[in-house]
Amino acid sequence: MIKLTSINKYYKSSSGNFHALKDINLNLPDQGMVYIVGKSGSGKSTLLNIIGGIDSFDSGEIIIENNSINENGEKSSSTLKMSEFSKKDYNSYRNTYIGFIFQEFNVIKGLTVYENIALSLELQQISIKDRHQDILDIIEKVGLKGKERRRINELSGGERQRVAIARALIKDPKIIIADEPTGNLDSKNRDIVMDILKKLSKEKLVLIVTHDKLLSKRYGDREIKIKDGQITDDTILNQENLSEIVCTPHELKPITPKAKVSFNLAWKGFKLNLVRFIFIIILFSISLIFAGTVINLYMTDTTKMYAEFQQENGNNVVTLSDKYTYFETDKTTAFFTHNLSSAKRQFKLNDGVTMQTYESMHIDIPISDQEPTDSFEDKFFKQSINYITKYETQKDFEEEFYLLEKTFSVQSEYKCYITDYLAYMLNHYNYYGYELELKEFLGRSISFEGNKQTFKIVGIIETNYLDFYNLGEKLFKNNKKHAVFEDNLALYNSIFVSKTVYEDYFTGENLNYYYDDIIYNTKSGNIEVEDVKFSYIQDNNLTLTPMVKIPGYETEYPKKPEQGEITEIAVSKGFVEQVLNLNVENLVFSDSSKLMLNGTSISNFYLCGISRIPASIEFNITCIIDDEDIVIYAPAKSESHLYNNLVSSSFQEGGFLTAKISNDLETNSQIYRNLLNNDITINNPSFRKLQLVDVFISDNIFLFAALFFIFCLFSILMIFNFIVINIKNSTRDIGIYMSLGMNGFKIALIYLFQILIVSTIAMLIGIIGSSILLAVVDSSFKSLVIVDFKILTNTFLGVIGTMLLGYLTPIIAIALPLLDLSKKKPIDVIKVS
Ligand code: ADP
Ligand code: MG
Repeated sequence: MIKLTSINKYYKSSSGNFHALKDINLNLPDQGMVYIVGKSGSGKSTLLNIIGGIDSFDSGEIIIENNSINENGEKSSSTLKMSEFSKKDYNSYRNTYIGFIFQEFNVIKGLTVYENIALSLELQQISIKDRHQDILDIIEKVGLKGKERRRINELSGGERQRVAIARALIKDPKIIIADEPTGNLDSKNRDIVMDILKKLSKEKLVLIVTHDKLLSKRYGDREIKIKDGQITDDTILNQENLSEIVCTPHELKPITPKAKVSFNLAWKGFKLNLVRFIFIIILFSISLIFAGTVINLYMTDTTKMYAEFQQENGNNVVTLSDKYTYFETDKTTAFFTHNLSSAKRQFKLNDGVTMQTYESMHIDIPISDQEPTDSFEDKFFKQSINYITKYETQKDFEEEFYLLEKTFSVQSEYKCYITDYLAYMLNHYNYYGYELELKEFLGRSISFEGNKQTFKIVGIIETNYLDFYNLGEKLFKNNKKHAVFEDNLALYNSIFVSKTVYEDYFTGENLNYYYDDIIYNTKSGNIEVEDVKFSYIQDNNLTLTPMVKIPGYETEYPKKPEQGEITEIAVSKGFVEQVLNLNVENLVFSDSSKLMLNGTSISNFYLCGISRIPASIEFNITCIIDDEDIVIYAPAKSESHLYNNLVSSSFQEGGFLTAKISNDLETNSQIYRNLLNNDITINNPSFRKLQLVDVFISDNIFLFAALFFIFCLFSILMIFNFIVINIKNSTRDIGIYMSLGMNGFKIALIYLFQILIVSTIAMLIGIIGSSILLAVVDSSFKSLVIVDFKILTNTFLGVIGTMLLGYLTPIIAIALPLLDLSKKKPIDVIKVS
């Protein structure tokens, strides 16, 4: 029995409080069909909703009395006071006691007849399999046999209402509450529904609200009239159907559906609104692809990627180049002059560690006359020794390198060490006539043309060249490894000499000529010329041509260049023809030894050496020497310092720089960062890509930040909007879940699962898509570099960022409207729909 005492209900609105129920006192029986009738707006629904526990009351008390019989056959009764209900108790009360039937056939559209009914059980964690027959029986009871698999939208209004009744029945509630259940039905369907309800009232209390007085007269056992929130009449029509009954005790059963139920509902809702979900997935994916790409561009540690590339390929040495600009031409030269010490400084790291660097000189000591074949060995072993490397002290040197063999017995000033690579190279080309054991190299000499001294081998350094050798053909097929090998080669293909020998050797005394590439600067532009020979005038090769005397001048022409304020040089006929592009016959010398063409001096020009002789000097040609090669002659060594200025002094102050790199990626990354910041280039052809990508990223960092912000904003707004609309559209369903006794959290889970499906798919597409986009951006640099390696990929932080954006946004977006809904009373949620 349900007992209402002095129930008052006020609706609060902006225009003031409305007293909807005024001091209602009412006793309701345990079974029978009780009608609440009255005009529209009289308070019928309000009363019903309060009894059903989907709306609250402001004062009074509702007591639920249970008469039950215990094991000993004794009658006992227990009571529940609704005023003491917590929110959870209300959920349990609805779940245990009440079956709702509304005018608007509140059934879940996305589910079938069977599923709608089963839902009620699922929410209570009752196995559907166990109750399968019950479900079918109830479906039969409401006359829907054969329509179990139909979706709600394939049913008529009357059929939908019968589904609602069936759903109310399956959990066997004590009370069926029906608010104008036939209001939207035609008379035929109305009678069917009423007959079902009438049958139910034989064992339950069926509380029906209607404004149709005829109905209550026809079916009702009792009729309660209500007017302006007050009971005006209470008539018993059929006493024998109204009675107190004894039943098994009804404990308040809390509703504890598994998360799986929420997930199933989510999935069904997802399938039902597939088009809408796919649309949002596409939009969300696109913005995640771009946002992810931008995060990754932002997060990419370019130098670390390069360090990884170097490490993967087993590199432990880098060869460096200096970047500089002459005559508006950007040049990299593997020759440091003024910047050598600055270049070395880049290897001093923040934590005080200094990486070992080596100064060396590019030379060319041929060791084989054979034409190289296509064999791997001929590619692997160079035909000439390419470097002389300097070490500071013997002690330091022997600490830095492991010596496979050494000897003290060689009497020579020009002692050198060679690497094991070089030893095998000399063997490969049979330099000493037959194959030598390592120790047999000791004491042997290395000598070459144009060099007065010979170097005596006193030790053999161990390198890891075998690692590369063992890669065999792959090394040259796979450009990456080849590029790395070239880096190492600067140290492997070198002879090592002491500081004294090194400086002595490069004073110029030993060097008769030198080759370099030059930029020759003319008024019409820059001409780059390869392999220009720098030499000095030896009297025996001074064959001057052509000699044109200018009338009126006494001076003997041409004359040998002399040291003076203007740097005087002689050039070869080849130089005039191939570099200056002039015909020697058309040239004359003026009295001040200036080379003239048609009365204009063309004698003065600038040139700068590119790879070895870093001269940027204004030259004055005073003489042309009959030689078809391209040669620039300085005055004879004994007479002038020019040759020294040009060649030997630059060798003393400058040089090539190679450096050992660390095994530690962070350290190497820091070094590469230093190098990038100081315009120092690693000669490895893949370094170009690092430079390009690094510039690309640092130039566009603000753009990326802005884009990232825009994409984030876009995706956040979009997903917020979608979720708000989605929840709005689902408010009706949420109301149904609530009236079934489901709590706010489990309802929230349904929508959370839905959005997680969206997020997960969008995020996966986002990550894959951004990987592809990054690969596209990455390979767009491909055409600009010689050896490609991958810099731009999905970084760990990039993926995390995409995931955060992909999950956090919708979760926050969904939390707000759901929090709002869960605060509402079920009736308000149902009403909104
Ligand atoms: P009935 O079901 O008899 O038509 P209701 O119980 O729905 O009437 O409503 C009773 C009165 O309370 C009506 O005058 C109605 O306007 C008012 N009312 C109902 N719900 C609200 C509400 N949420 N806020 C303010 N007034 C309400
Ligand atoms: Mg109403």
